[in-house]
Amino acid sequence: GAVIGILGGGQLGRMLSVAAARLGFVTHIYEPGANPPAGQVADRVTTAAYEDAAALEAFAASVDVVTYEFENIPTEALDLLEAHRPIRPGREALRVSQDRLTEKTFLQGLGLNTAPFADITDLDSLRAAIGTIGTPAILKTRRFGYDGKGQARLRSPEDAEAAFADMAGAPAILESFVEFTHEVSIIAARGLDGQVACFDPGENVHREGILHTTTVPARLSPSQRTDAVLLAANILNALDYVGVMGVELFVTPQGLIVNEIAPRVHNSGHWTQNGCAVDQFEQHVRAVAGWPLGDGRRHADVVMENLIGSDMERVPDLSRESDVAIHLYGKAEVKPGRKMGHFNRIIRTR
Ligand code: ATP
Ligand code: MG
Ligand code: MG
Repeated sequence: GAVIGILGGGQLGRMLSVAAARLGFVTHIYEPGANPPAGQVADRVTTAAYEDAAALEAFAASVDVVTYEFENIPTEALDLLEAHRPIRPGREALRVSQDRLTEKTFLQGLGLNTAPFADITDLDSLRAAIGTIGTPAILKTRRFGYDGKGQARLRSPEDAEAAFADMAGAPAILESFVEFTHEVSIIAARGLDGQVACFDPGENVHREGILHTTTVPARLSPSQRTDAVLLAANILNALDYVGVMGVELFVTPQGLIVNEIAPRVHNSGHWTQNGCAVDQFEQHVRAVAGWPLGDGRRHADVVMENLIGSDMERVPDLSRESDVAIHLYGKAEVKPGRKMGHFNRIIRTR
């Protein structure tokens, strides 16, 4: 069968590999770290750095299409790969989403609402931004942040110096603090033919900066639901996107505000594994392989809960519960804050 190359061997690469195998594809993982979770299920693994040109060329030559499970792939590596094989989703989606300043500028350019933001280069620009944006606010590194890392909250202008020191010299943006009632995300997909399909929005609860639960259906009015679908399609079409994307949204009385986009399958889409005929992983594989998309329809109410660090101790009890589907990532070492697995609880309403 055709070979799908996946950059990144974490749990997302693992679940993409499983989905690809179910459709008869061969998978080849590229991952610098040893013993990646995806390596246990993929057909082939290359362990090499993203600076290793020879390894990248050999990887590209062995696959039909390149996709990825994370957005911080070095530009030079993408240049090398793209000379040989298509990269899906494409480069523009990566360029836009790798940097919060580029990302928010792009979203505003589409006419979408984001938190007011400003580019921060030094303490003076931070003080000036506080003057216009006000407090409370959040200072975030432009690049490489995840699970709330690389962020500092400012309750008042006096917090400027400490927050700036927290960035350790990294380029940053200041964002106004959004008074949201709750957070939702929409997992959307676009096929090679331009067809768009969205999963039902999920409602997300975070704990200590890390996603804790996603619940479907989310609390949204019919018009908010329509808004979420339309704005996601707007983003995907603007990027000529191919694959699955996660779009994080804040729900406010004034409407939906886009927080960030992830050009890949997304933790808040894991509920689809047990709530839809075609889940986000199969959907992504279908898109990058040029297949028709699944329709995204949901057949059950679901609560997805992440198993972080010592939450793994709950697995024996969870495994005795009915209507609970357990998904573990095969990570040998339990660490605090580490995503070890998740479970989907089907909520039967009739
Ligand atoms: P992820 O792990 O989702 O990639 P991240 O580290 O990229 O997270 P964000 O999603 O930007 O960070 O922020 C993490 C959380 O912090 C958000 O889900 C939200 O709860 C809160 N947050 C972020 N920005 C704002 C804001 N402008 N106003 C209010 N809350 C915010
Ligand atoms: Mg993020
Ligand atoms: Mg986020």
